[in-house]
This record gives sequence, structure tokens and C-alpha cells, in this order.
Amino acid sequence: DLLVVGSANADLVIGVERRPGAGETVLGSDLAVHPGGKGANQAVAAARLGARTALLARVGEDGHGRLLLDSQAESGVDTAGVLVGGAPTGVALITVDPSGDNSIVVSPGANARLTPADVRAAEGLLHASRVVSAQLEIPLETVVEVVRNLPEDTRFVLNPSPPRALPPEVLAACDPLIVNEHEARVVAGGAGLGGTPEEWARALLALGPRSVVVTLGAAGAVVAEGTGAPVRVPSVKVEAVDTTGAGDAFTAALAWRLGAGESLARAAAYAARVGAAAVTRAGAQVSFPTAREVAAL
Ligand code: ADP
Repeated sequence: DLLVVGSANADLVIGVERRPGAGETVLGSDLAVHPGGKGANQAVAAARLGARTALLARVGEDGHGRLLLDSQAESGVDTAGVLVGGAPTGVALITVDPSGDNSIVVSPGANARLTPADVRAAEGLLHASRVVSAQLEIPLETVVEVVRNLPEDTRFVLNPSPPRALPPEVLAACDPLIVNEHEARVVAGGAGLGGTPEEWARALLALGPRSVVVTLGAAGAVVAEGTGAPVRVPSVKVEAVDTTGAGDAFTAALAWRLGAGESLARAAAYAARVGAAAVTRAGAQVSFPTAREVAAL
């Protein structure tokens, strides 16, 4: 079983002719409200593929919180671990102009109140999981507590997004650390990154994780573990409509396949198909494919 520990946000989206400058007001489209946040996205992506999935997250006691709980439940996610209250549900205020460029303000809200104590109280969920997947839209100390409370035979997967430098304790637990190019640069920090994605993967591996996956958008991904040469995972050629959520779908699929016992390279190849399917449709959660749709790709 997969446990996702992470964020849940309501994405409030307004289309505008032009994004406003300081002191300016612009009129926009009707408001669209979508369930989002990397944790909620990953849980829905995994459940839609058929993974038995639970979410450990925190939402507010408000309409946005109910929207998130409903979308998780509809997708088949076990929401018993979703805590309610303490602050308003996290919100992303998104304005999008006709060229697709956006400006985003995030209020972490309840996500910032998912505490290490909440992780300790979720011991049962942790012990019921083969794989735990986390991101960084919740406090870093909460992720540290996940690592400290990880059962012996439970695998930990981290997508450090939004990226920041990671403590050695967290790095050492990652199996794999999953990063895109931007996240790779921030996590590598002073170590710097040059050359090819294969070289980035090796440089990241030297920081301590048990394995590394670098995602490269339409170019697929690179997988590195142990002392062997990094392996290139090909992408699937698709017509990209909207890349929102591709990384979340990729990570969820990878975590699920690893939990099913597949090798990292095989799991990444499957995840690349899931990521590709997700970019063929608009939106985040609504764009995530079922296993049948992945097979048909
Ligand atoms: P993020 O959204 O975190 O930046 P990526 O853009 O690298 O992550 O996407 C994650 C994965 O999804 C990629 O490794 C790839 O397998 C798949 N993917 C993303 N964009 C495309 C695309 N345009 N065509 C095919 N596959 C894609």
C-alpha cells in the first residue's frame, strides 16, 4: 500500500487578458476551483491507476477542505488520515494570461500546520505502507519526522518540490530522490551541476540518497542507483496539451510500481508512460490516467 504525506490545496484559477501590475485591478474570467496540491495530486494519481492509497494531510474546516476530501474519496483514496482544522485549507491563487503564463500566490494554510506530532499519531498508516511518498509543500520538520518513523521495510520516495537544501538524514532515506532540472540544481546547491543529466544524477547520488531519478519532461528521465552507470528512461511521444501535474503523476506511478516490487528502471519506464498520458489532457487531477488508459497509450 502507498501512503502519500503532503499538501492539499484548492487551486483558484482566473483567466486574464494581462496579469495585473502593482496597484492595478484587471477583470478576468469566471472563477474555476480545482482540487490540487502535490500531496493530493499524487494520491489521486496513484488511486486512479489502481493503487491502494492513503493520504496524510491537513485541510481546513471549510468548503475547500470538503472539496479536497470529496475528490480524494471519489478517486478511491483512503482519507482517514486527512486531518481537519487548525487553519483555512491551503489555497493557490492563479491568474493565467492568454499565452499560458501564470502568476501564483500560495497560502499554505492548513498545510503549514501538518506537524511532526501528526506524523507520530499516524503510526498505524506508516506501518500499513510499503512505500511512503512525500513532497515539500508541508513543513520540512514534518518530512524529517516521517523519515525518523519509517518502518524498517518501508521505502521512502521524495520529490523535493518546492526545492530547498535537504538535511543529510532526509537525503539518506530517499529511494529514490525524484527531481526535475530546477529541483536538481537547488538540491545540489553548492555541489553545482554541469554536463549531462546522467552527470547530474551521479552528482545527486553522491549526496547520499539510495537512488535518484531526474525527470526531463518530453525527454523522459534518468535513473541512477548503486555504482552502475545511470540509465536513460525514454519518454513516450505524445501531443502535450498541459504539463501541469506531470511530475506528480510520474512520482505517484513510480512509488506504486516500486511498492509492487518492480525494479527502479522498470517502475520509471511505467511512470514515464503515466506522465506522458497526463500531459495529453488539461488540468492536474482530472488529467491523470487509469491503468487501462496507460496501457492504451
Ligand atoms: P515536472 O512536472 O516535475 O517538471 P517533468 O516535466 O519532468 O516533471 O515531467 C515528469 C515526467 O512526465 C517526465 O519525466 C516524462 O516522463 C513525462 N512527461 C512530461 N512532459 C512530457 C511530454 N511533453 N511528453 C512526454 N512525456 C512527458
